[in-house]
Amino acid sequence: MMLEKIEELLKEVNNLKASNAEEIEQLRLKYLSKKGEITALMADFRNVAADQKKVVGMKINELKQAAMQKINELKEQNAEAEESADDIDLTRSAYPIALGTRHPLTIVKNQIIDIFQRMGFTLAEGPEIDDDLHVFTKLNFAADHPARDMQDTFFIEQSASEVTKNILLRSHTSNDQSRIMERQQPPIRVICPGRVYRNEAISARAHCFFHQLEGLYIDKNVSFTDLKQVLLTFARELFGPDTKIRLRPSYFPFTEPSAEMDISCHICGGKGCGFCKHTGWVEILGCGMVDPNVLEACGIDSKVYTGYAFGLGIERITNLKYRVADLRMFSENDVRFLDEFVSAD
Ligand SMILES: [Zn+2]
Repeated sequence: MMLEKIEELLKEVNNLKASNAEEIEQLRLKYLSKKGEITALMADFRNVAADQKKVVGMKINELKQAAMQKINELKEQNAEAEESADDIDLTRSAYPIALGTRHPLTIVKNQIIDIFQRMGFTLAEGPEIDDDLHVFTKLNFAADHPARDMQDTFFIEQSASEVTKNILLRSHTSNDQSRIMERQQPPIRVICPGRVYRNEAISARAHCFFHQLEGLYIDKNVSFTDLKQVLLTFARELFGPDTKIRLRPSYFPFTEPSAEMDISCHICGGKGCGFCKHTGWVEILGCGMVDPNVLEACGIDSKVYTGYAFGLGIERITNLKYRVADLRMFSENDVRFLDEFVSAD
């Protein structure tokens, strides 16, 4: 009986398993402590018949050694497992991945593009370095036109023979329009976003580069009414359904008639506040009917076709929406500034 019990325990001990230190301690208590199985066997040892004592004694000893060895093995395995678990801890939260945000100018540009695309405009882009012909001449800037000087343009190459061959950093995205009209007959309905350059002293309110988005629609029977309705829809989509617009007469070389468009101040709703200088209006873009001279210069028959154009500054719109105090912040790449637009994207 006793030998059978010992054999049974021996088998048990050799198959012991534990997954942590606490379970190992439970096994140690079960087999090796003063109240454990092996101690109990030793207590029974005195009842073993004298001729059996030697065999039983050796067996108990074997069992005790086996139990001690097994528990030490389990302890070692557990220590190793804990050590390697430092490398792969599946319970630990993941490393945060630093995701950037879209630049606020890109966010607003995409919003504007989306609005006009839904009204049937397609996207077109042109070169930032272009010649005078496409930036000024075809757009009705006379060679001695004061507006040409007013632009304060960065010239890259000045042609000795002909002013139209001068190479420059474009001062507006209108060169995209002259290039499109040159290669495509109406109907034309495009928006041209892009970077433009002007020789300005850098300050909180001015920079030597900024971003524009211009629109152009040329077809038969395009009227000023069409322009006004498209711009009203645009303003309401971007600044809210209660937004009002007003057009003030203005002058641009490439449009006639020309207008500046204001929207009702989105901060005070038109009642007047510090932001709108108590007028209730803020200026957002310039627009007008494409001057027939521009159409003709670009190879489009002005007796058949009419068109409108508009242009806005993306920094200007972004400032209106997010009230960025200093224009320079857009190009400083300060992530603290950029992080503020995480939820806007
Ligand atoms: Zn206001």
